[in-house]
Amino acid sequence: MLKGRTAVVTGGTRGIGFAIVKKYLDNGANVAIAGSREETVQKALAQLSEYEGRVMGIWPDLCNPEEVAAAFTRVKERFGSFDILANNAGISSRTSLYEYTLDEFSKILDVNLKAPFVCSQAAARLMKEQGGGTIINTSSMVSKYGQPAGCGYPATKFAVNGLTKSLARELAKDQIRVNAVAPGVTKTDMVAALPTEMVERISAGIPLGRPGEPEDVANAFLYLASDIACYVTGVVLHVDGAAMT
Ligand code: NAD
Repeated sequence: MLKGRTAVVTGGTRGIGFAIVKKYLDNGANVAIAGSREETVQKALAQLSEYEGRVMGIWPDLCNPEEVAAAFTRVKERFGSFDILANNAGISSRTSLYEYTLDEFSKILDVNLKAPFVCSQAAARLMKEQGGGTIINTSSMVSKYGQPAGCGYPATKFAVNGLTKSLARELAKDQIRVNAVAPGVTKTDMVAALPTEMVERISAGIPLGRPGEPEDVANAFLYLASDIACYVTGVVLHVDGAAMT
């Protein structure tokens, strides 16, 4: 579905991001994994030796426009185009408002909101030049109703929805589609960090009866990146088993 296309997946070293990387590679794309550290990127690349020649690593500071632009240009030079950006990197929070420091709030804004902005800007410049492309952001089920602690996390995911819908309208004239995937409870390290009883309680309330697998989410990233979705832009696609919490 993506033969010959080039994708960058931020936070592609593990969890949902790693599942997206594999899904894109299995569908013929060239992929650059953007991680926070060289060490974790190399570890991920070591698990992808069968795709040698179609996968590379970059580790720019995702909030630094110059570093991101330089890294994305290297990707384009290596593979010949820059077609897909999956803004997946993210961190979560369960901190109570009473304990929340401004530093923690700023950090979650940086990774979950500022980074997708910086990466989208750098990607859009390259995509416009080549006649189009597609950007897929990562929202969350909590962007519908919020959550009862860790207010910074849903605040950034509501904002990601706004960024998605606005950029979809702004960039359509340049043939750049912008969508978001909003996962529900998905079995990754992020969920493993939550108290077991909380995960059980949330899972019990999922109409489809189970938490999501990273591949369930990666399938949505594949659909939105592919030509099958060529008339789809500005959408937040919920992949959450119809969860309401
Ligand atoms: P994870 O913690 O397993 O992986 C997060 C990835 O982001 C890691 O590769 C990590 O290295 C990377 N990352 C974090 N900070 C970074 C930075 N500053 N620079 C570069 N990379 C950075 O989490 P996950 O569950 O795979 O989450 C992926 C995305 O899905 C996130 O945006 C998250 O908010 C969203 N999401 C996850 C769930 C879930 O239940 N797992 C639900 C809804 C939304």
